[in-house]
This record gives sequence, C-alpha cells and structure tokens, in this order.
Amino acid sequence: MSKVLYEKDIQKEVLQGKKIAVIGYGSQGHAHAQNLRESGYDVVIGLRAGKSQQKAEEDGFTVYPVAEAVSEADVIMILLPDENQKQVYEESIKPNLTAGNALVFAHGFNIHFSQIVPPSDVDVFLVAPKGPGHLVRRTFESGAGVPALYGVYQDYTGNATQLALAYAQGIGAGRAGILETSFQEETETDLFGEQAVLCGGVTSLIKAGFETLTEAGYQPEVAYFECMHEMKLIVDLLYEGGLENMRYSISDTAQWGDFVSGPRVVNEDTKARMKDVLTDIQTGKFAKDWILENQAGRPQFNAINAAENKHQIETIGRELRDLMPFVKQEVKTKQKEVKQ
Ligand code: NDP
Ligand code: MG
Ligand code: MG
Repeated sequence: MSKVLYEKDIQKEVLQGKKIAVIGYGSQGHAHAQNLRESGYDVVIGLRAGKSQQKAEEDGFTVYPVAEAVSEADVIMILLPDENQKQVYEESIKPNLTAGNALVFAHGFNIHFSQIVPPSDVDVFLVAPKGPGHLVRRTFESGAGVPALYGVYQDYTGNATQLALAYAQGIGAGRAGILETSFQEETETDLFGEQAVLCGGVTSLIKAGFETLTEAGYQPEVAYFECMHEMKLIVDLLYEGGLENMRYSISDTAQWGDFVSGPRVVNEDTKARMKDVLTDIQTGKFAKDWILENQAGRPQFNAINAAENKHQIETIGRELRDLMPFVKQEVKTKQKEVKQ
C-alpha cells in the first residue's frame, strides 16, 4: 500500500513565518484560507473586485489585487477556475514572482497541459483535497478533514516536499490522510473520475434509469425517488463501509438484483468507452477541446447546460424537494460555469 501520511509525520515549522497568498476565494479558496489561518499561518487573499472580494473581507481577511498579493507572499496558492488561471498567471502572477517563492495548485491541469510554464527558480507543487471546498471547511471545523494528494513538480529550494506536507496539514488533510502523487497522475485520475464515474457517469446513469421508467409509463415522481433521491442513501452506505456495507443494509432481493443486473448495464462495452474517455484525457484531446470551448465563449457548454436544467428529472425534482424541506440545498445552485 502507498504510504499515507498523518499529522504526526509533518514538520509545521517550514511554513511558519511565511506569508501565504490564496488567490481566489471560491469553493476551495475560502476553505484553504480559513483553515490555514486557524492553523496559525499568515494568510492574505488575492482577488479582483467583486463578490468573492466582499466575502473575503467580511471573513476578516486582507484582500489585495492579485499582483500585489503575489508580491507580498512567499507561498502562492492558485485557487482560480482552471480555465482562467493561464491569463491571470501571465498578467498578474508571473511578473511578481521572486526566486524561492512557492507556486501551488489544487489541481494539476494547467501545469500538466503546459498552459502555465513556471520559471525555474520557484518551487511548484500541488495540494489537491479529494473533496469539494465546502467539505474541506466543514470537516475542519468539526475537527476532522478531507484527504489530500500532494505532488512536487519542481523543487528549487529543496523544501518543496516539506512545504507541501505542511500546507496539506494546515488545511486539515493531516487528520484524514495525505498521499503522494505526481501532477500527471493527479490531473489524469481527477479528470477521469469526474467524467466517467462521479459526475458524468452518475448523472448519465440516473437520467437513463429515470427515462427508462417514465418511457415505460411509470409516474415521474416515483421514478425520481427511485433513481435520484435514493442515490444519496446508497452512497452514504458506500462511503461509510464500501460495497459490503451497502449490501449488508439492502434486502437480499436487492443484492441479488445488484449481482445479476448491474453487470448487464455496466459491462465490458462500458469499460471500453471508459478507456476511450481515459485516452482522450491522456493524449490531451479533452484539455485542448475544453480550452478551445472557453476561447469560443462556451457555446456548447451553455447550450447543454440550459437543456439539462430543463430535463423532466430536474423539473419534477424541484417540485418534490420543495415538499421536503429537510432536504437542504447546502450549496445553492451557484450560477457558476464549471464545478470540480
Ligand atoms: P471557484 O469557481 O469556486 O472560485 C474561483 C475564485 O476565483 C472566485 O473567488 C473568483 O472570484 C476568483 N476569480 C475568478 N476569475 C478571477 C480573475 N480573473 N481574477 C481574480 N480572481 C478571479 O473555483 P474552485 O474553488 O472550484 O476551483 C479552484 C481550483 O481548485 C481549481 O484548480 C480546481 O480544479 C481546484 N479544485 C476544486 C475543487 C472543488 O471542490 N471545487 C476540488 C479540488 C480541486 P469572483 O467572485 O470575482 O468571480
Ligand atoms: Mg427499492
Ligand atoms: Mg476536478
């Protein structure tokens, strides 16, 4: 098994006395900044004027324009949307880096796909929490943490690994486990996981199940409960104790159906499609298409998003959730263009 590190394995001192600039105050930014501050580190925020800037100030941070925050800091964590990072890096970050600074990422996309090419006299590493930003914050506040991967791309000072570990520990990951990776592995597995399983796989599976039932004449309300609502209950069991724990809780009839019908739906053909998805990630095709889509002003992204929001499972779901006030919408549907 790979070596998993915990709080006791980490030297906090390497990061103490250094100024950390967290660039961006969105899902990850607000969590890193507040957790690091409560871990005793000196944190400033780099942002443009806007909603996030107001929020960071309300939370008691000193907020600078990005260029100034970078000039002030020793450690610069870039928590901007992946598709904006190149431009902000070229305009405001690169000109203000000094030798020995650390440039840090929470996802390897821009380094791995050569959108950002850092100078040779800075440390470059990643600390990638394996969970959404709001959980990075919430678990920290409750005394726990979200696991994180760390990886070093460039070690100019000779301290990059220790800095990465101290940073990961500062956001609470030392309580859950810190695992070494590379920029390549983190980028490719993260993209694959969200595309084939966590986001793309799950949403396509839910919709296909819902459509199969409604097209066969069953009530959409019943199909919604069966294919969407219950998903969370099952996923909680998987999270807590794997497949065995989930199967322990369901009926034997459900378990038998799982064994004989699951592999009829997700089979060798599905795996072959998953391999195609992985190949497009590995060759850089996915990255190139996504960069071009952004350069073109996101015509396909916006059209698909609008159509998806009108799907019957969404309209019926909104009505049903209104009748279930206990189903809290924890992260309000942010009108943000991309998540994860
Ligand atoms: P968000 O979209 O939630 O937040 C982005 C932040 O960047 C906002 O505060 C936004 O401020 C600011 N911003 C956007 N453009 C600019 C700009 N041009 N100049 C200055 N500030 C700007 O991003 P995430 O937290 O989701 O993602 C950040 C990084 O973390 C990405 O690399 C992502 O891959 C990675 N990551 C994200 C995870 C997640 O849970 N979301 C999980 C693990 C990694 P404004 O209000 O002004 O728009
Ligand atoms: Mg059932
Ligand atoms: Mg991701």
